[in-house]
Amino acid sequence: MKNAILGHQNIVTQLQNAVASERVAGAYLFSGVQGIGKETVALYFANLILCDHRTEEFSPCGECRACRTIKNGNHPDLRIIRPDGAQIKIDQIRELQQQIVYRPLEGPRKIYILANTERMNNPNNPAANALLKTLEEPPAASTLILLTENIESILLTIQSRCQIFPFYPMPIEELTVALIDHFSIDKEAAAAAAILSRGVVGKAITLIEKGITESEEVPEILEETDPLAAFRLAEQFEKNLDSLDELITWYRDLLFLQQGAPVELMTHTSAVDKLQTLVPRYSRIRLQQAIKTVFETKELLKRTNVTKIFALEVMCLKLLQGK
Ligand SMILES: [Zn+2]
Repeated sequence: MKNAILGHQNIVTQLQNAVASERVAGAYLFSGVQGIGKETVALYFANLILCDHRTEEFSPCGECRACRTIKNGNHPDLRIIRPDGAQIKIDQIRELQQQIVYRPLEGPRKIYILANTERMNNPNNPAANALLKTLEEPPAASTLILLTENIESILLTIQSRCQIFPFYPMPIEELTVALIDHFSIDKEAAAAAAILSRGVVGKAITLIEKGITESEEVPEILEETDPLAAFRLAEQFEKNLDSLDELITWYRDLLFLQQGAPVELMTHTSAVDKLQTLVPRYSRIRLQQAIKTVFETKELLKRTNVTKIFALEVMCLKLLQGK
């Protein structure tokens, strides 16, 4: 089987080396934004550990019983744990603790992948402390792969028990080449997907699969004029904090347009006509201030315990009122 992973080659190589030298650790922590490829690489790693007939290039064969059961999602030694509702719950960790002490059934190790591990740091949810217990005394022949979109909210005591691999967006050029190679698409389409996804592989793949031709929707807050909309818009941002990074790119595009910069420099080239109509509403200072406001709000949310929704409401009010 061809190594089907786009990007993250040095992480993949390190994991391959760990398997080759039989030095697979008891716990890993993969961190990076949604869609960056953490779960894809974790599954690849699990597959590599469990495969019975690794290829000469040291990849899973894709054909043995282990590979086939992994593909069908029912290998007895591999489990993926996801948040049950908003959080990974203590009961899910207790179940893991009960199972992990038994020897693997078919492969050399039992492997647990925990998605969105940041979603157990709620003070009313003791799951993180329970998980820490397991990480402190990991049963032999077991490996936990924790995935997180926000490493800062993972207990330091948990982090220190794991081998940490940060996942970064791919350089646009490199992703463009990889997409051309992988999907047999033309250069323009690949470049557009790479730019729009800002190097996040999963987003680029989604864009290609659903077609990039449609133009992007301009965030509502850019068009809205009623300050009272701040409360509703703040709720939307709260549901998807990543959209704050996105929002900055929109204000930056408006700034580019206003200064007559070439369209190629913009992020949202497909929405340029719509943005053009918004330019007269904004002064240069207001746009610079807006970018600053969003940055400051992101920092505030990251570094302090300020109530999320409150910080976002203040941000939206400032953005709508141009202050
Ligand atoms: Zn195999």
